[in-house]
Amino acid sequence: MLIRTTQQLIEAGLTNKNADLDAVAARYAIGITPAVAALIDRDDPNDPIARQFVPDVAELATTPDERADPIGDLAHSPVEGIVHRYPDRVLLKAVHVCPVYCRFCFRREMVGPQGLGTLTAPELDAAVGYIADHREIWEVILTGGDPLVLSPRRLREIMARLAGIDHVKIVRFHTRVPVVEPERIDQDMVEALKASGKTTYLAVHANHPREFTAGARRAIARLADGGVALISQSVLLRGINDNVETLVELMRAFVENRVKPYYLHHPDLAPGTSHFRIGIDEGQALVTALRGRISGLAQPTYVLDIPGGHGKADIGAASISGGDGCFTVRDWQGEEHRYPPQDR
Ligand SMILES: *Cc1c(COP(=O)(O)O)cnc(C)c1O
Ligand code: SF4
Repeated sequence: MLIRTTQQLIEAGLTNKNADLDAVAARYAIGITPAVAALIDRDDPNDPIARQFVPDVAELATTPDERADPIGDLAHSPVEGIVHRYPDRVLLKAVHVCPVYCRFCFRREMVGPQGLGTLTAPELDAAVGYIADHREIWEVILTGGDPLVLSPRRLREIMARLAGIDHVKIVRFHTRVPVVEPERIDQDMVEALKASGKTTYLAVHANHPREFTAGARRAIARLADGGVALISQSVLLRGINDNVETLVELMRAFVENRVKPYYLHHPDLAPGTSHFRIGIDEGQALVTALRGRISGLAQPTYVLDIPGGHGKADIGAASISGGDGCFTVRDWQGEEHRYPPQDR
């Protein structure tokens, strides 16, 4: 059964009765799938899975830096459902519903039952029309919400329309479904994600190695076997994965399941999420440590979505300095080495 209310959380043994949780529920959507509920360790008060999905009264505290639209989607939305920040790629947000609602979500004011909903047929027409009219758009990124809550039939319709646009070469999905509702990824779904003449990429969102259950591994294997190229997406979160051991296991789990680590996101300034954020300096120390610990295949890029809609920046600690004369390069153990200037 899907958990959607505080009452259902209590019945499932995931929280104690607490009047303030109703205030949290009134503001931010709740969603926990059976697969996630089964994964939560009810005996661990700091369980990293529970922390991601079970609401907490700490969400009622908003800091002055936090904002409803932390990464500035609205500033770059020419038509409903499209975010066009970079010339060659757009976000297509067909749906603002998710199977789960992550407590740290960067779009938490837009998703859920009180959120922006699903595009109507005329809105989808206008969004697809915008993509068709802009020849510089090489890639369409389906996000939301979670695009894989749509039925295979609806997804096939969207893919067929994108297939008809010659300049679009890549369709990318960002989704948490393979991990939180793996049974949705059947053969019909895998086929629905593909379109003739286009290459499909799918970013699997997972934040803790325990999310790679047997079901999740099977779902991911079905996607990989079906010819979908897989990349990862994780958020660096206090109390969930902010230590080297957990990140090593998480990144290795991706690679072992044919998912190439792509982005490790610094948490966004979403309202009521300060208890999840760590310092950028702490994040830099963690990703520097990863360099020496795991294969290059398993290295993510540590990124910040600059508040206000300025796009993403690589914020890993710089390992190179100088430039006028000699460069100094720092290795994974912190030792510095000279690299000579180029004769011109
Ligand atoms: C994150 C994002 C993208 C994708 O960025 P990549 O670096 O290509 O993964 C595209 N458009 C918008 C508006 C984004 O926020
Ligand atoms: S699945 Fe993505 S969009 Fe949905 S609540 Fe989680 S982080 Fe937000």
